[in-house]
Amino acid sequence: MAVTEYTSGSEDESGFNIEIVFEGDLWTDENQQAFIDAAEYLSTVIIGDVTDFRGNLGDGIVEIDDIQITAEISEIDGVGGTLGSAGPTYIRTDTSLPISGSMEFDTDDVDDLIADDDWYDVVLHEMIHVLGFGTLWETLDLITNYGTDDDPDYRYTGENALYEYETEFADIYSEDEDSDLGVPVENDGGDGTAGGHWDDDTFDNEIMTGYLNTDSDNYVSNMTIAALEDLGYETTYTASEVTTTVCFCRGSLIFTPEGMIRVEDLTEGDMVWTKDRGIQPVRWVGSKRFTQNELQNNSHLRPIRIQPGALGDMIPIMELTVSPQHRMLVDSEIAQRIFKTKEVLVPAVKLVELDGVEIANDHSDVEYYHILFDQHEVILANGAWSEALYTGKHAMESLSEEARQEILTIFPEICEPDFCPLPARMIPDRGKEIKALIARHAKNHKPLQLHTESEFLQIFTN
Ligand SMILES: [Zn+2]
Repeated sequence: MAVTEYTSGSEDESGFNIEIVFEGDLWTDENQQAFIDAAEYLSTVIIGDVTDFRGNLGDGIVEIDDIQITAEISEIDGVGGTLGSAGPTYIRTDTSLPISGSMEFDTDDVDDLIADDDWYDVVLHEMIHVLGFGTLWETLDLITNYGTDDDPDYRYTGENALYEYETEFADIYSEDEDSDLGVPVENDGGDGTAGGHWDDDTFDNEIMTGYLNTDSDNYVSNMTIAALEDLGYETTYTASEVTTTVCFCRGSLIFTPEGMIRVEDLTEGDMVWTKDRGIQPVRWVGSKRFTQNELQNNSHLRPIRIQPGALGDMIPIMELTVSPQHRMLVDSEIAQRIFKTKEVLVPAVKLVELDGVEIANDHSDVEYYHILFDQHEVILANGAWSEALYTGKHAMESLSEEARQEILTIFPEICEPDFCPLPARMIPDRGKEIKALIARHAKNHKPLQLHTESEFLQIFTN
């Protein structure tokens, strides 16, 4: 039985809540689920409350906590043609953040999208527009047109997304001669598509490009989350799908009481040395393979290669390759000064500014391995401290359905709504602070990690 209203986020209205009002009589559990999932996802990405609204939007006085979205499915023009429309309807006078918005879809297209498994991606994409992505860029002065109205040449200029462009898409950024102008924005497709999306030729499978990829998975980049931050939302990147794919490449040597063991040879029950809790059993190992073709089309999946000694004295001992969002330990006085804690976990892709760390653009194909323990652990791979898999809600969503089911059998509590695993170390989520941390390490040639003498002996006598 379909509902008439749904509110995402926490019940006490702290944080960011999206209230959806379902209008019309074409709603089913199935077509509503995408709205519920998209709203819940956005409530984990946007963590800060925005100012409550109380006022008249035309139908008398209403109170809106964060945002109210009116959703409707109606008969428009059959399959194809107009898919629908979405955008903010009223914005706050103080911050320009939307108070309300609307999302309308053509029922025949909805059925098609559900059948093709693209419905969630479309709903999430449109909901992000309702929050202001693309729709409020001009209002908030976040976009510049270097061309003409007829032949536009748009660049997005918000500083948080621009920073993510530089780091998350470092290889594209470095080849972009106009990168200082901003992030490439779609110029084709006319009003509505041009000027309101990331450039599809550049960012391809990213969810906020102007053209939906129907044959492969779309994903939410940190850059899109950063663009929400540029609009004025308080966001966190730790919930993003990309951020949480934590894996070692095949061949990585994991430090165990039995000596170094290749990650692909580890199985459930094997003991591994952890930084915090001594020897701990592996609870689950999963793997995922990407072909050269997939890596070609998805630069965000390409592994990060860390040369011996790039993180510290003989750290790692030999070349280490990990997924871009795999977090490495930074243990330094510089971290202490910036984050008020000496040890933080930083995604490998953020380390590319260091000598000896680079995106492996030449990989033929790659096999990624996840290792899961009872808790989030810091372990040694090729002699460098880095994290193991973290069972946060969105880390789970980044895994295959099969892997998810396997993990759920081991840790059923992950399903409980208030389950929130504790990270092993602080995970900073402010791009600028992470950038400052790595820049200072690079400039002062300070090691990111040091081994204590006993660790050093254990690693080398094993
Ligand atoms: Zn769009």
